[in-house]
Amino acid sequence: MGKVLVVGAGGVGTVAVTKMAHMPDVFQEIMLASRTKAKCDAVAERIGGNRVQTARVDADNVNEMISLIRSFKPDLVVNLALPYQDLHIMEACLATGVAYLDTANYEPPEEAKFEYSWQWAYHDRYREAGLTAILGCGFDPGVTGVFTAHAAKHHFSEIHYLDIVDCNAGDHGKPFATNFNPEINIREVTQKGKYWDNGQWVYTEPHEIHKPLTYPGIGPRESYLIYHEELESLVKNFPTIRRARFWMTFGQEYLTHLRVIQNIGMARIDPVLYNGVEIIPIQFLKAVLPDPGELGENYKGWTSIGCRIKGLDKEGKERTYYIWNNCSHEEAYRETGTQAVSYTTGVPAATGALMYMKGLWKKPGVWNVEQFDPDPFMAELARLGLPWHEKFDIDLEL
Ligand code: NDP
Repeated sequence: MGKVLVVGAGGVGTVAVTKMAHMPDVFQEIMLASRTKAKCDAVAERIGGNRVQTARVDADNVNEMISLIRSFKPDLVVNLALPYQDLHIMEACLATGVAYLDTANYEPPEEAKFEYSWQWAYHDRYREAGLTAILGCGFDPGVTGVFTAHAAKHHFSEIHYLDIVDCNAGDHGKPFATNFNPEINIREVTQKGKYWDNGQWVYTEPHEIHKPLTYPGIGPRESYLIYHEELESLVKNFPTIRRARFWMTFGQEYLTHLRVIQNIGMARIDPVLYNGVEIIPIQFLKAVLPDPGELGENYKGWTSIGCRIKGLDKEGKERTYYIWNNCSHEEAYRETGTQAVSYTTGVPAATGALMYMKGLWKKPGVWNVEQFDPDPFMAELARLGLPWHEKFDIDLEL
């Protein structure tokens, strides 16, 4: 039981706060704070019942964050703003003695590069302060790490091959839109590919490696090898992994738009001078693209995200295993007013917050989700709207 401060009133923040609001016995008081207070007010109004307080905050301003935390006195800060804010919010939590949780690892604004080193560097300070920080508690990263921990705990003595497969088979009816923050999304998917193989990282050109993979209830979809942040922590925390890769589906239309955006310089993250004003092309692009939080209304179809694993079972016999969740865009919209990508991120964030509040995921230091007990998380995840399924000894296609 306690108080939670959620920072960031986008699609993910909306879902997480909606879920928390329905657990008054755990989240007694909820505050939603973001750069634009009107967005927080709209979420609070949709939820109703005076369950959610709101505030304006610039989370890049550590002193502003500290003042807000001191006045609201939360037990936990859930960071659902952008990856650029991670370190500032972690600093504010340290200064005020409050636990921290996020869904995306830190990225410096001036360089499209995500890695955990910046946040892992806080481990000793959090440990010494007796504070818990839970990193990457969305779906991927997040549930994919918990699925891997569940596989290691219950089904495998050694995991050798891990393939995380992320399919969005939904249709939002727009020629081009991103499913979460366009700036972060485009930076992520236009990077070089990268995967773990026999103790080292192997680099590929963007989208160089691809193949059709079959997703449950959806069918075959072309899937592209891209780099994703959880690979870094998973190969560290499960050192028996020989190869770890991440696959994401993209439609041809999406890839064509992306190529044009890159070719004409609109994916640039360095400032350019326009009419005497400095603008960053990708930030301008974000302003003219559809708001991911508003795609939900006409979104149809499903997402399917999971882990395909091969290794040795508890008796030392070779085995394959697939664990996944399918989520409906329409159902996510009916329940929260957002689409399934926000839903599949916001529900795990609320579940992780629940784990912390119940004292089940609480240990001083900075941790990735796979370093906690997966069992209570998996049970709550299904109850909160993301049921999971598993199959053994099947053709993984990989
Ligand atoms: P949105 O862009 O929809 O929302 C981000 C929110 O953060 C906006 O309300 C924005 O305010 C606010 N914000 C931005 N900068 C600041 C700041 N300096 N101070 C306070 N508030 C700020 O993003 P999403 O909801 O789609 O995504 C949220 C997070 O979830 C991102 O970090 C994203 O990378 C992560 N994510 C993780 C996934 C996973 O599976 N792990 C999957 C999808 C997303 P304003 O409205 O004023 O712009």
